[in-house]
Amino acid sequence: MVIGGGMAGLVAARTLLAQGLHVTLLERSGRFGGTVDGRMLGGFQLDSGAESFSTRSATVSALAAELGLGDRIVSPDATGAWVQLPGKDLQASAQPLPNSGVLGIPADPSAPAITAVIGRAGALRAALDRVLPVGSLATRKKVSLGELVRTRMGEEVLTRLVAPVAGGVFSADPDDLDVDSVAPGLRVTMGRLGSLGAAAGALREAAPAGAAVGGLVGGIAQLRDALVEQLRADGADLRTGEQVSSVARSASAWTVTTEHSGLTRRIAADGVLVATEGRAAVDLLAPAIPTLAAERPDPVPGVALVTLIVDVPELDARPRGTGVLVARGVEGVAAKALTHSTAKWAWLRDQAGPGSHVLRLSFGRVGDTPADVGLASDDDVLYQHALADASSLLGVPIGAADVLDWDVVRWAGALPHASVGHRERVARIRALVAEESRTLGITGGWLAGTGLVAVIDDARARAKALASALADAPLTGDPTD
Ligand SMILES: Cc1cc2nc3c(=O)[nH]c(=O)nc-3n(C[C@H](O)[C@H](O)[C@H](O)COP(=O)(O)OP(=O)(O)OC[C@H]3O[C@@H](n4cnc5c(N)ncnc54)[C@H](O)[C@@H]3O)c2cc1C
Repeated sequence: MVIGGGMAGLVAARTLLAQGLHVTLLERSGRFGGTVDGRMLGGFQLDSGAESFSTRSATVSALAAELGLGDRIVSPDATGAWVQLPGKDLQASAQPLPNSGVLGIPADPSAPAITAVIGRAGALRAALDRVLPVGSLATRKKVSLGELVRTRMGEEVLTRLVAPVAGGVFSADPDDLDVDSVAPGLRVTMGRLGSLGAAAGALREAAPAGAAVGGLVGGIAQLRDALVEQLRADGADLRTGEQVSSVARSASAWTVTTEHSGLTRRIAADGVLVATEGRAAVDLLAPAIPTLAAERPDPVPGVALVTLIVDVPELDARPRGTGVLVARGVEGVAAKALTHSTAKWAWLRDQAGPGSHVLRLSFGRVGDTPADVGLASDDDVLYQHALADASSLLGVPIGAADVLDWDVVRWAGALPHASVGHRERVARIRALVAEESRTLGITGGWLAGTGLVAVIDDARARAKALASALADAPLTGDPTD
């Protein structure tokens, strides 16, 4: 039994099926995919959540190929993204985002593309990284990304390079991010090579050549569609609208209680893999494992995405490459990032034709106050900000008359981030669940880390562990209601 039909749950279900097990997957909402979803807007099939995947590992490309989507894998436009830095003149304060290192940490802070962003004084401070002893930063238990970068390379590298990248990927501040979770291996490599820059360069070199991300012609949501189709064809019992309200030990191993259209049902299962968001997972399991309650993750603020379909021929020149990451403190801009989708993806550009463009702006960061523009703002407020911010960030006036269509997609609590101490917390949660029973498993982005690669790898590993526990244990449950 798999609870939660996001990418983690779907991939886990596929792995369990491949081990010859009968699989029931219960999803609370009316659709599968969780934060992977798509919709039609202005005649385009667009992703509503995830729109690319990391190619630093072959995980997603290989899954896409297995699902028959291999010929749709594409790289984004090579022009790259920009960073918008604070400054009186926004256009003069925008810079191409240097494409070296890891999470914005430069391999060589003295490179011209880096000094253009951090200034000469910033580059001089960052150069200290080469001579300062590494000390306990490489070995201490808990270190944030912010502390690591600030101590080694200084404030300019942190605020002008790393913070915009971290904000774009995790919607979080570097001081809140656990460096070992968001950049695994970075501290160990720094300890070995003696500087943060050398470590960032080494990790970068170890990754496959070419673009760091990939996409699918037609959108990432096809991964979800293909998974669902294959699971159904292979006999999995996939159910939507089934909110699981409890998971309890019973004579027949596990009893899962669900609420469906006002009806309460109990389903027996030999093994259970919980693949929901973090707070839902802890709420489901805490009655059986009371000590888990202390590990309930804090609520994560969500993100609101405004997509504009516009008719603005000046954007054909792709003035800010594939998009803009916005540093904190940029006055008059509420968005934290803008993706120029028709610049980023050639397949979308070809569909749109000259003059028409798809722009996706995201609002909302960890640490925002209710006064900030974000998830809680009205659609019209978000739309007005999106128009103004797109004009400011792209340096091209975009008015309501240019807009062919627009919408707002909200993701509440959907961007869990690895806060400092994340690895220890995950280890504790895994240990508590493992102590309870080998036929109980837990997975999902809140444990594995943001991003499809981590989510898919973890879901597979947990599903395999559950299958092997079930192979060792006598099966008792009746998988039907
Ligand atoms: C706006 C946005 C953009 C992103 N962009 C990218 C990107 O470009 N590249 C990338 O790699 N990653 C991206 N991500 C991250 C990526 O989408 C996630 O890491 C991943 O999809 C998480 O999958 P999951 O299955 O762990 O969780 P989720 O997608 O959150 O799925 C959890 C599922 O559990 C269900 N559920 C919850 N409670 C219950 C219950 N009680 N009973 C039954 N079902 C329940 C939920 O309804 C949901 O369907 C993005 C995320 C967001 C929000």
